[in-house]
Amino acid sequence: MTLRLFNTLSGQLDDVLPADGAVLRMYACGPTVYDYGHIGNFRTFLQVDLLRRALQLFGVPVRHVMNITDVDDKIIRNAAAAGLSIAEYTPKFEQAFLDDLDSLAVQRPEVLTRATQHIPQMVHLVERLAAKEAAYRTDDGNWYFRLRAFPDYGKLSKKDLEGMTDGARVDVDEYERDSARDFALWKSTRSGETGWETAIGRGRPGWHLECSAMAMEYLGESFDLHAGGEDLMFPHHENEIAQSESATGKTFARHWFHVRFLLVNGRKMSKSEGNFFTLRDLLLRGYKASSIRLALLSVPYRHQLNFTFDGLIEATSAIDRLRTFAARLRAALLEPGSTAKGLDTATRARQEFLAALANDLNTAEARAPIFELVRQGNIALDAGLLRSDDRDAMLRTLDAFDSVFAVIADHDAAPTRAAVEWARTNGRLDEVAPELLAASTLTDAEIDARVEERNLARRQRNFRRADQIRDELANLGILLEDSRDGIRWKRK
Ligand code: AMP
Ligand code: ZN
Repeated sequence: MTLRLFNTLSGQLDDVLPADGAVLRMYACGPTVYDYGHIGNFRTFLQVDLLRRALQLFGVPVRHVMNITDVDDKIIRNAAAAGLSIAEYTPKFEQAFLDDLDSLAVQRPEVLTRATQHIPQMVHLVERLAAKEAAYRTDDGNWYFRLRAFPDYGKLSKKDLEGMTDGARVDVDEYERDSARDFALWKSTRSGETGWETAIGRGRPGWHLECSAMAMEYLGESFDLHAGGEDLMFPHHENEIAQSESATGKTFARHWFHVRFLLVNGRKMSKSEGNFFTLRDLLLRGYKASSIRLALLSVPYRHQLNFTFDGLIEATSAIDRLRTFAARLRAALLEPGSTAKGLDTATRARQEFLAALANDLNTAEARAPIFELVRQGNIALDAGLLRSDDRDAMLRTLDAFDSVFAVIADHDAAPTRAAVEWARTNGRLDEVAPELLAASTLTDAEIDARVEERNLARRQRNFRRADQIRDELANLGILLEDSRDGIRWKRK
């Protein structure tokens, strides 16, 4: 089966096949690691994961590249506020992002790559553009892309460049340029500010430049598919196309995949709106990683999805039904052989599941036949009608489903435990659902270590810290007692 997917560039459903007939080369814009990601960000990363898993199920090998934006205005600002260099500031958030991907069972891209490690490639791209007069330098040392050099500008977002006034700026920043629509490739910086000494001057890259340089480094000048959230279509992706195609004269990416937003009460979930949840927030409230994954995947990527707690609860019970059925099937003592109805139920569910996925990754429709399989399979088990080959066929269908949705195999304990541990070390135990705390009892050695940390705080007369540790332990049901030979602890 071939996956047909909406292509923002062509404006229609196109087959997704590797141009070289071998490996599908795809690039996905990654996170800016200035803070913890919210689940709106993860909706996009999950839908890209679904895409790569569906391609693999259809027998298409994938080479998936994702960047980590580890230099930008927000990173520079936050790092300065924390008194750190950007190289000291970003690793914590990069690791948190990777941990969150693991929690959500997102497969790692074949290549994960950082912007700051590709400065020479970016500089080279600016030089290529300058040689074609598509880039120019202003007196203050900034480099801009000359929009007039790329008549196709707007072909992705279908914006008409002529209609854009100079006031409607493509990129918001405060630098001088020929035309207000020209966007920054390279921003000059003074010594002392974050920057690199390069052949085009001292400075740091613009965000758009980074993705073009890294995509071409790992996928070649022309590749199959480029992905990101809907907000990136303009100007980010439009700018990537303009600078890449001006430099190479080739089509940059043939297929453009855009994921619509996760909303809260009709508004985009975002840091600036303050209406966001991180993955950790939800895990600490007791929602499981699998429920969050299924809830974010169940609405097809081309529809906006309104986040609700009811949606998470629905996903939890859906997963319970799947897991209970799978366990029941495996445990059932069945006669050898098969039945026409049993095999047909399994095969039809599989075919309908694949067809719905192939049709523009329609996850809502892809779920339905699987739940129908659960219903019919349970009826057949109740009636003692199932044979062992029927069971195997049904398990194979569930496996196909789970190779894409990845929610039946139960990996929920580790993310929850890690989130509670994170809350403990970040002073956020008060946010942890009581049932999780009870379940996350520390080992004796861990408790001893906490008590020792508290003793140290007291010796240093840091009583606030000492009290905080005592309270955290109390929340975990561990009581401290002063005794003649020091502190003793006991479990409540
Ligand atoms: P950022 O770290 O802000 O660069 O965003 C990472 C990815 O998340 C990008 O592909 C964004 O388009 C995407 N994104 C941001 N907010 C949302 C949202 N509310 N729903 C879906 N995707 C989003
Ligand atoms: Zn990008």
